[in-house]
Amino acid sequence: MAAARERLQRGHLRRSDRRRHGPFLAEVLTRDHARPTLALLDTSVRYQRAPSAWVGGDGTWTDRDHLLTHAHTLYQRMLCPDCGRTLTECGSGAYNVQTRICEPSAAIQRWRKENKDPAPGIVLFAVPSEAAADSPTVASAPAWWREKYGTPTE
Ligand SMILES: [Zn+2]
Repeated sequence: MAAARERLQRGHLRRSDRRRHGPFLAEVLTRDHARPTLALLDTSVRYQRAPSAWVGGDGTWTDRDHLLTHAHTLYQRMLCPDCGRTLTECGSGAYNVQTRICEPSAAIQRWRKENKDPAPGIVLFAVPSEAAADSPTVASAPAWWREKYGTPTE
């Protein structure tokens, strides 16, 4: 046990360690406190780089990286293809439906409803109205964004 812990701390694992610890780590990834690790693993998979590369590693794949990405694969298999929750979570309890409005999508849908025969090649994109540009979200935008898109105070 102590030897396995030492190998894990050094980032070296045997294949049997990966088989033994992968399911445990996949279960750990379902917990709320593991969200940062899950985000790191999602990023690692997305950019096809070793997880340790995002926390100061040199990009070399270690056994620990292999264990984590294996656990990530096992975790992905635990998810419901319909709702994205774990199968355990979506198979229990009762749920209600909540709605939200995506204002940029709503603006584009309104435009389409009002313009039944748009010119060929027209491309739609939503931009914030002045009221939206005055929102705290826009006010907290980086300076380069505010310079490009402006704010009502400018
Ligand atoms: Zn589900």
